[in-house]
Amino acid sequence: MPELPEVETVRRGLEPYLTGARIDNVTLNRKDLRFPFPKGFVKTLEGQTIISVGRRAKYLLFRLSNGKTWLGHLGMTGAYRFAEGKFKEPSRYYEPGEDIKHDHVVMELTHPKQGKLTLIYSDARRFGFMDLFEGEDSPYLDGLGPEPLGNAFNADEMAQRFKGKSAPMKAALLDQRVVAGLGNIYVSEALWRAHIRPTTQAKKLVLKSGKPSPRLELLADGVRSVLNEAIAAGGSTLRDFRDAEGGSGYFQHRFDVYDRENDPCHTPGCKGTIKRIVQSGRSTFFCPVCQKP
Ligand SMILES: [Zn+2]
Repeated sequence: MPELPEVETVRRGLEPYLTGARIDNVTLNRKDLRFPFPKGFVKTLEGQTIISVGRRAKYLLFRLSNGKTWLGHLGMTGAYRFAEGKFKEPSRYYEPGEDIKHDHVVMELTHPKQGKLTLIYSDARRFGFMDLFEGEDSPYLDGLGPEPLGNAFNADEMAQRFKGKSAPMKAALLDQRVVAGLGNIYVSEALWRAHIRPTTQAKKLVLKSGKPSPRLELLADGVRSVLNEAIAAGGSTLRDFRDAEGGSGYFQHRFDVYDRENDPCHTPGCKGTIKRIVQSGRSTFFCPVCQKP
């Protein structure tokens, strides 16, 4: 499942081709993805210029010249690509053998510099969805916590939210009101960096004064660094996720705990072996030696 770094990788891939592009034509090959397309979706998009390509948590936000925003979520297998012929290595972006029955949305665009483009959204499992909203008024964005790479996310902020909370750290970090867009993989990675066991109660990382403990400070740094490194590496290639141009990222080779059960811990001097447990139905990976309760 694409997580924040993968969605950000898609955003960066699309941005140079979509910003400033006019949407000439939209074809929906079915009525729904995870949810039905919003009423008037095609009419609202056609004729508009895309002003910017943004992201909030795992939502892509395409701001349109009519003041509306087209929101896209990739679900598990959502992918954008451009049709053949617009890039130096067309086969890298579109393989003729690929099953086109999963191409659910096709958009014809005119970009001032790139010229005519065909943007295709495919989604084999259809857990992705699209929506439209005006201004900032989207139920999907309501109540989202700070962006982990933004200034509002820091250890003091987390300490306020974790005070008195007996939830395990894994669950506390997956709570989108605490931090927006963090998922299963990067939560495991960030907790390992901060030497915090995923089962540790959130309140244990808050001092009596309400200030963050040193480990919580390390965690805030760990979240930022793991995400920044993943974005720099182009996202992971887990499942059949593809970035916007159809190329694959390679960050999965650099995970320190995720999917490394029984492998040696990467912490310098640690002789531990990575363990896998299941928390709320999801796999958690950690080192029982250097990640303390
Ligand atoms: Zn270790």
